[in-house]
Amino acid sequence: MLNEIEVDVAVIGGGPAGLAAAISAKENGAEKVLLIERGSRLGGILNQCIHDGFGLVLFNKSLTGPEYAEIFIEKLLKLKIDYMLNSMVLELTPSKKLYVANRNGYHLVKAKAVVLAMGCRERTRGAIKIAGSRPSGVYTAGLAQNFINLQNLMIGRTAVILGSGDVGLIMARRLTLEGVKIQAVVEIMPFPYGLRRNVVQCLEDYNIPLHLSHTVTEILGRSRVEAVKIAKVDENLKPIPGTEKIIQCDTVLLSVGLIPENELSRQAGVEIDPKTQGPVVNSMLQTSIKGIFACGNVLHVNDLVDYVTVEAQKAGMWAAKYALNELPEPDRKEIEITLGENVRTVVPQKIVPGLDTSLFFRVYKPGKNKTLNIIVDGKNIIQKKCPSITPSEMLKADLKGEYTLNAEKIHVEVCE
Ligand SMILES: Cc1cc2nc3c(=O)[nH]c(=O)nc-3n(C[C@H](O)[C@H](O)[C@H](O)COP(=O)(O)OP(=O)(O)OC[C@H]3O[C@@H](n4cnc5c(N)ncnc54)[C@H](O)[C@@H]3O)c2cc1C
Repeated sequence: MLNEIEVDVAVIGGGPAGLAAAISAKENGAEKVLLIERGSRLGGILNQCIHDGFGLVLFNKSLTGPEYAEIFIEKLLKLKIDYMLNSMVLELTPSKKLYVANRNGYHLVKAKAVVLAMGCRERTRGAIKIAGSRPSGVYTAGLAQNFINLQNLMIGRTAVILGSGDVGLIMARRLTLEGVKIQAVVEIMPFPYGLRRNVVQCLEDYNIPLHLSHTVTEILGRSRVEAVKIAKVDENLKPIPGTEKIIQCDTVLLSVGLIPENELSRQAGVEIDPKTQGPVVNSMLQTSIKGIFACGNVLHVNDLVDYVTVEAQKAGMWAAKYALNELPEPDRKEIEITLGENVRTVVPQKIVPGLDTSLFFRVYKPGKNKTLNIIVDGKNIIQKKCPSITPSEMLKADLKGEYTLNAEKIHVEVCE
């Protein structure tokens, strides 16, 4: 029998985004808040991130992932917010009905407002089409992290890591500390993709070689990985014939990008931004479907968890207001932001006129001493100096509502 539950705000996902959104929804007046998590514990990806570096912005402390999550789990419990574990949301409808499966059966959750906080997942070997045989010993970096940090399982003895994003870098250090020899980190771009601090602390401090402008072209081995073939790439990121090298290893770790997990959002008809691969949202973090809000890595892949928390607090607040029929109805159309030089993504993509909005950007190319310009109706109203930019780091700017009250056009660019 279908078990029916009615709530004010349903939050999908119990990672840092879901936790902060649920707490904020409750604190902003939503009486019945329900958090639904498919895993067996709250905290999301933080549970397996046992390195420190979390909470630097919000708490001015370098916490581990579990320590950071615990702060919010305790608050959730204190506020007596309902949550379901081992419960997977299988379907979300545009009318905000959620179909949830768990051991106790099948549940229909009817929500006045929904917060999407499902996080993201890793790209796999299939997604990047590496040639070669199909031996064991090929892992995604997050899966390897889960095996080592949560399940106490060792994954190999000598490894090559493809991808120098933060996840790949952190795993290079983690595996080294566990006695694995990291033969190389291979990066297709001409610059490291992760935060500078992680390049220093995770590679340079351990003398791990980083091969920029290189990729893995083939995985070799019969039952277990025996080696990888790497090659230099040209400016179109295509391997250059004749530059191949063989590196012996028994393990390959793929750290080649995260994809926001938006199956449920798509199913509900939420408009997706092809660049962020997350929902298109406005200043209230409301998606194209009224009453459905989004935050965290399901909205755009974040570099710092602190920003995820702040964003989710806003999503939870606006969701509570929607559920209580208190969401302000803007009297003008939302303003779509246009992207100029060296700006790859912006979130939110649409501005509610007159509302203060924090904007997050990512750039295409790294650079030094650049300026972020926010131009409203042809007038450059924010000029932010950026001593160093890289595609892996988000740029943030706060746009005051007074600038957009009567505005028609907002344009952003990162220039000399
Ligand atoms: C290796 C690694 C290192 C990092 N290092 C740092 C660092 O040093 N400092 C820092 O600030 N940040 C770091 N981060 C980034 C930070 O951890 C993330 O930005 C943050 O955890 C994202 O939070 P989230 O809640 O959006 O997603 P997640 O933590 O992924 O949570 C999403 C949750 O949703 C659940 N879910 C998904 N679909 C469903 C469904 N259909 N039904 C029910 N539940 C569902 C998932 O099970 C998951 O628990 C790191 C990330 C990684 C992977």
